[in-house]
Amino acid sequence: MGKSKEEPIPIRRLRWSGNLPKPRPGDVPWAKKRPELAGLSEADHALLVRDTDAWREVMLPVCEEIDAERSKRGIKFAYTSEELELVLLFGRACGHTTYKKTRATLAGDDAEPRKTLGFDKPRIAQSQPYKVKTLRRLDGVPSQSTITRHKQRFSDERRAEIWMEIERRLRAEHLKTPELQEEARLLNLDGSSVLTHYHAERKSKEKSKDFGSVEVIDGERYQKIFGHRQKITCPDGGFVPTSAGPDKCGHGWNLVMVSSSSGVPIAWRLVPLNASEKDTALELLQGEFAREAAPYLRNQLRVLTADGAFQKPELRAAVRSLGIVENIHFTSHADREISKKRAEHSRHTWLPIDGYPTWQANHHREIRCCCGKGVAKRIYLDGQGHAIARSEGKCPKCGSISIRSGDWRLTDDHFTRCSPSELVAKRDWAFGNPLTFDDPNSQAYGNARFGHNEGLHGTLSNRFALIRNKRWFRKLAQAQTETAMTFALVQALALEQRRRAKEPVALAAAA
Ligand SMILES: [Zn+2]
Repeated sequence: MGKSKEEPIPIRRLRWSGNLPKPRPGDVPWAKKRPELAGLSEADHALLVRDTDAWREVMLPVCEEIDAERSKRGIKFAYTSEELELVLLFGRACGHTTYKKTRATLAGDDAEPRKTLGFDKPRIAQSQPYKVKTLRRLDGVPSQSTITRHKQRFSDERRAEIWMEIERRLRAEHLKTPELQEEARLLNLDGSSVLTHYHAERKSKEKSKDFGSVEVIDGERYQKIFGHRQKITCPDGGFVPTSAGPDKCGHGWNLVMVSSSSGVPIAWRLVPLNASEKDTALELLQGEFAREAAPYLRNQLRVLTADGAFQKPELRAAVRSLGIVENIHFTSHADREISKKRAEHSRHTWLPIDGYPTWQANHHREIRCCCGKGVAKRIYLDGQGHAIARSEGKCPKCGSISIRSGDWRLTDDHFTRCSPSELVAKRDWAFGNPLTFDDPNSQAYGNARFGHNEGLHGTLSNRFALIRNKRWFRKLAQAQTETAMTFALVQALALEQRRRAKEPVALAAAA
């Protein structure tokens, strides 16, 4: 064994066994082009979030508390804190990245958002009439300085906390719907960078000549970059050099996210850009996902697709215990020459399997017998709701084989059984998992992920401008707030779409 002759790759037909979820076509439920949502403006989108219990229970009490404090100090204010927060939410719904743009939209020729959100009456003229003479802007729409003061009263950390709680509650409400539970039978895991104009501290495992250690001058932190002293203006962000590739370099954070095949965020976390993506993903799955999403996603086998950056034995083991089988490969499906070469090499290097002298496996963990027969998939949930993945083969000449994923490990040159005390990290969870590199089902999941990811990421970038360009985030809390606001809108819109889809009569009447 070992070296193989040039043999044609067998043609494999795409079949779906009873347990495996099928990729499903369809738009994201919160897409603007959904017929149920077509008539709604961005101001309506903001109101959908305001009219939730999550807003009433989480946002409103804090706003009232702040307003009570303002009143106590004898301040006559034109806008309540709740209204100011609603304006900021409206800006997020429009995909504006500055309040200047939000204000321009709100004070623009189109009166619809003003009317919908309740900013179509003069305010200053009523609360502080003496100020009206000096007013150089549209009365009834909050000014930039009003918004700045609002954010100061609130504090970045408190706003982040509140918005993340609102988003969490809306997500849980959405996860209770059978629609999302079904769509979440296929999950995607990925990371996308949220970049900032500000400067994070540069850290490197190896000592680099390009930048020095941090010095503190007058309480401010500085770092020498290529000989020039630079102030660290984004202390809790991370930095990744350009050598890491165009997708992942710069200053800021990484949004690591599990989303449904329909483009709905299921669990997410923002971490410094330089933090390990796979370690973060593992923490996310064992933390937020297990706590907030998994309780709604039991009793059905799920598949999680991710690219090779998330290849980590502990991560594979963790998803199995959540009833999910992972579709993650060692080599990339990318078109680059190096990826193709690597994939080709893995395909043609065959290794022996202990105890099965007539069977062998390649580096993609594809198993075949001496005469070239492959194996069948057996993926199912056990009595505890854990996902079990097996590859089973039968050949009249070579006998049968049964490989249970997780029971084996790869030594230098062969696959061998683990002792029961073998560490999770040392086990080869990919061996026995039938969703291998060239497997038709696995490829169908990969294609579906590509389509839906383009949908979700394209929208986060184009419609919401959350991840498109560098942002003016000074700290994590600001990035968390904007992300949570965006996802709160997404969840509220999806919930509204599902509600309306169930009322065909009302919809027809409205049309
Ligand atoms: Zn055979």
